[in-house]
Amino acid sequence: MPKMTKLLLLLLLLLSPYLLFADGHIFVYHRFDDSRYPTTNISTKELRKEFNYLKKHNYKVVPLIDIVNKVNKGEAVPSKWVAFSIDDGFKSFYTHGLSVFKEYNFPFTLFIAVKFTEKKYKDYVSWKQLQTIAKYGTIEFHSYGHGHYGQMNDAKIKADIDKGLALMKKHLNYEPNLFVYPYGEYDSRVEKVLENYNFKAVFNQNIGAVNGVCSDIKDIDRSAVVGSNAHDFKLYLKFKELCGVHFQQPIIYPKNKIVKRVEVTLDDKTIKSADIFISNNGWTKVKVNNGKIIWNANKHIKLNRIKIGVKVKSKIKLMVLSK
Ligand SMILES: [Zn+2]
Repeated sequence: MPKMTKLLLLLLLLLSPYLLFADGHIFVYHRFDDSRYPTTNISTKELRKEFNYLKKHNYKVVPLIDIVNKVNKGEAVPSKWVAFSIDDGFKSFYTHGLSVFKEYNFPFTLFIAVKFTEKKYKDYVSWKQLQTIAKYGTIEFHSYGHGHYGQMNDAKIKADIDKGLALMKKHLNYEPNLFVYPYGEYDSRVEKVLENYNFKAVFNQNIGAVNGVCSDIKDIDRSAVVGSNAHDFKLYLKFKELCGVHFQQPIIYPKNKIVKRVEVTLDDKTIKSADIFISNNGWTKVKVNNGKIIWNANKHIKLNRIKIGVKVKSKIKLMVLSK
């Protein structure tokens, strides 16, 4: 082997832990310093801790659209890229969160449910505040009425989207590029309705990572961090996207609230074992035979919106089922 090639190989080997470390990551927040709602709140003290961690470890906080552009081109997202999103448009982002983002000079994307602002709901940002926010970040679309799209017919979904888009145009003079499903709920029918619009990307709220090459531009993972759990934040940064996962069963919410059998196929036929996640039941180790997982789970679920996930080492993929 020529000396140069050997050197290059050695260098690659030395670098590989970093190359393999992780994909890009997108985080989602809702409320800031609003302890009335612990399941959707983060304190700015905690937020600073997370931001400091990123700075200390040389992460690059990029605008969400940069990750979208990578996925659209089918290019790998650099492992140190992180993007931030904030959902719904709660007033506490304007009064508490924004200043921290400004302080660190971190870009962000705020997804608004337009009705809450339009109807001047007490807990939400005003159009005027949104105009201020738009100077520091991007404002994108999270529906008009924040309804359960899975339970609305096509015409109702379209009417909801049209109304929201028209109001964003009117008040912000902006045509959104990005969309987040209310409650992260959707199915193939809802996805089809969305195809009538020119959104560059659609996001869920499933813990995961963005590989770029194998990521689905209509189903990009975002991890939610709440409370004072820096441990979760660091853990999520280590996840990579598990590519080539095909969930086969269940694909609709089980009426009797029992997940009887889980069936998943994986493109990577060399995988021998995986962990399966079912909401309310945690993770269970299962065997994989020739890329096929068949597990008679028989697990009771309580929530009306559950997640089922597969993890192979630090690679992860989740999906959501709603009642
Ligand atoms: Zn929302």
